Amino acid sequence: MSSSWETIIGLETHVQLRTKSKMFCGCATAFGAPPNTQVCPVCLGLPGALPMPNGAAIGLAVRAALALGCTVHPKSVFARKNYFYPDLPKGYQISQFDQPLATNGTLSFLAPERGIVTAGVVRLHLEEDAGKSIHDRFPKATAVDLNRSGVPLIEIVGGPDLRSPAEARAYLQTLKQLLEYIGISDCDMEKGSLRVDANVSVRRAGETALNTRTEVKNINSFAFVEKALTVERDRQIALIESGGAVTQQTMLYDSKENAVRPQRSKEESHDYRYFPEPDLPPLVLTPEFVAEQQSALPELPAAKRDRFVATYALSREHATVVTSNRAVADYYENVVRAGAEPQAAANWVMTEALADAKDHQEQLRVAPGALAQIVALVKGGTLSHQAAKKVFGEVAAKGGEPRTIAEALGLIQVADSNVVAGWVTDVLGAHASEVGRYKSGETKLMAFFVGQVMRASKGKADPKLAQRVLEEKLTAS
Ligand code: ZN
Ligand code: MN
Repeated sequence: MSSSWETIIGLETHVQLRTKSKMFCGCATAFGAPPNTQVCPVCLGLPGALPMPNGAAIGLAVRAALALGCTVHPKSVFARKNYFYPDLPKGYQISQFDQPLATNGTLSFLAPERGIVTAGVVRLHLEEDAGKSIHDRFPKATAVDLNRSGVPLIEIVGGPDLRSPAEARAYLQTLKQLLEYIGISDCDMEKGSLRVDANVSVRRAGETALNTRTEVKNINSFAFVEKALTVERDRQIALIESGGAVTQQTMLYDSKENAVRPQRSKEESHDYRYFPEPDLPPLVLTPEFVAEQQSALPELPAAKRDRFVATYALSREHATVVTSNRAVADYYENVVRAGAEPQAAANWVMTEALADAKDHQEQLRVAPGALAQIVALVKGGTLSHQAAKKVFGEVAAKGGEPRTIAEALGLIQVADSNVVAGWVTDVLGAHASEVGRYKSGETKLMAFFVGQVMRASKGKADPKLAQRVLEEKLTAS
């Protein structure tokens, strides 16, 4: 059914900025503290307490805006967004409304079905987080933890430019990668430092107008992004196909049931009675401040990937994997700088190094110099690829120098042709009938003979040398 339908998705992403203190007070932002221990009159919303903007948070927000190619406005305005909720002590959230920090950016990402897609970033604004309602702590009661009340956030509002749930996931992954690269957030969805709401509508293929949309909330893990959006898309299509109409409302995703259910009718912005925050002057940024944030940006992932293609002659696919995060990209470059051939280094980083890191808290445990040595030992014929993997595992677990470890483990390949010739003679002697078949033209048996020599040598023979000696002996006799 989905082939005759098109899905329109726009994501609103809230990202917690990596600061020590909150947006408008000095309280700590550390995760995991006992409930209501990181609070003060400002973030508790006590009467008379006045907010003071956090300069570090503003700097990080500007960096994010610049990395997304947004126009950063020299003047933006904080606004009160009024609503009632138990975890919102002031009865309003300080956000930005009609004069946001930044507008009009883009994010390019690789869409599974459409290739490179450039999605619009409508706006990026600063705001404070609300507290947290805890529903599973006391029976039949809701507890409130205000440690998160006032934590600095940016909200990144994407345009309605995504065309499938899989595309939304790819967009979000690219956004997360970019924000991690520039170091403005840990982007940890499980800790709530990256949260996404999705606006979803459907239309028949060929239509151009946007239909009524719903907002899907409570997508609290990366794995659920695609699932939640698929469920909502299918619900809307089924509804319209059965003669119904989509109503504008907020849907909550329930990951246990893999279902969405309506929360409340969706607010229009006038429901929030926005007005400029009277306790804060407009936020004015000097050109020097913005330039300072620009110069603090590292090389961005797309630029790094293109440079790896150009400098190290990697394929786009390999360069994408190697630049998937900044630590891995730096590691790769250090392996190459330590003398490894670029493609061989990429192969090792993409397989052994990343697999090992995945099992060990993302730690790249083999030092770049050691990996470069392993690559060189394989290239020089001292280690088989199989043996080199063993050495890699040993260096990862215990450290040490690759050649010494290879020697200690008896993994050094025997490249002495006299020694190899001895194993070859034994193998040919033990397999007279295969020798006969080989000589009568069944040359694919060479692989069998090489395998037998490797076995006889307990993996120590240099396989290329073994093949050469085998060819000599089989043609000579
Ligand atoms: Zn506080
Ligand atoms: Mn928001």
